[in-house]
Amino acid sequence: MSNRIEKLKEIISRPQKIVITTHRGPDGDAIGSSLALYNFLLKLGHTVNVITPNDYASFLHWLPGNNEVIEFEGSEKISEKLVNDAETIFMLDFNHLYRADGLADYIKKSNANKVLIDHHRDPEKNIADIVFSNPDICSTCQLLFEIIEQMGMFKLIDKNIAECIYVGIMTDTGSFKYSSTTSKTHNVIASLIDCGARNTKIHDLIYDNYSADRMKLLGYCLNNKMLLFPENNSAIISLSNKELKKFNFKKGDTEGIINYALAIKGIIFAAFIVERDNIVKLSLRSKGSFKVNEIAKKYFSGGGHENAAGGVSTKNIESTIGKVKEIINNYKNELNNIK
Ligand code: 5GP
Ligand code: MN
Repeated sequence: MSNRIEKLKEIISRPQKIVITTHRGPDGDAIGSSLALYNFLLKLGHTVNVITPNDYASFLHWLPGNNEVIEFEGSEKISEKLVNDAETIFMLDFNHLYRADGLADYIKKSNANKVLIDHHRDPEKNIADIVFSNPDICSTCQLLFEIIEQMGMFKLIDKNIAECIYVGIMTDTGSFKYSSTTSKTHNVIASLIDCGARNTKIHDLIYDNYSADRMKLLGYCLNNKMLLFPENNSAIISLSNKELKKFNFKKGDTEGIINYALAIKGIIFAAFIVERDNIVKLSLRSKGSFKVNEIAKKYFSGGGHENAAGGVSTKNIESTIGKVKEIINNYKNELNNIK
């Protein structure tokens, strides 16, 4: 990594116009890493803009720098200009350009230095000039922390930057419980608390922040919409557009629902299927060696991590549920022999 660290140090040593971007439907790690880097680069005197492809959950809106984030959808012209004018573009928490959605073409055409910082497997070839890609690290936020540390710039991490990084590590590790959590993760978290991150407050702001509608939607999913296949250690939860409307759906309201299915004793594979506008989106989760990124890639034009992946379906919601049932059946041997 040292050669890339030196190159990156050289790039950011001169104040310039920088754009930071991340994947569509940005989550805690995407927004956390983008805003951590934003606050860090501001301290170095750069002109920085964070542009997300679209909007994101309101439980992330308290993060420092959030009010300056530009959403591409609805601000296409200004976003185009900022990307065209940028001297360096950072791409965080994704590794295939299409994940940047509407921004992808502008990024591709840009002559800026491109830097990728990400923890997903198999990055697209030539996606950036400098690629920091490590699928063994739990989150883009932890990778960003390690890069800052290796550049010898740890001292610049203040409370704001520490809180952004904390959020990404916390959300991508399921609050430090997934197998991607290492002793290094805990050491990084300890450093972040020493830098001023309000750990208890952050958990509260992210997780104990449900609207009554969101809590009722969760109850509805668990009571009425969960299909269990105990013989194959699997579960499916689905929601239609109509059901989302009934519970006044807001961005982020369905996040985490799938984890409840996986919290049932014996369940090692769970699928959450949601209809949003005209798209049927899937979230897949697993425990142990059942690799949901392979399922997402093979059947739903998607990808992700071994235990957390996603994709889209070309079929309607009913047929997609049928397809997932079929997949569960086809993989029954694996699902019954997981280590
Ligand atoms: P989620 O289920 O929370 O939307 O996504 C879980 C993980 O799956 C994400 O971190 C991301 O790596 C991956 N993922 C989700 N949707 C897609 C998709 O449409 N395409 C790809 N390649 N990966 C996805
Ligand atoms: Mn991530």
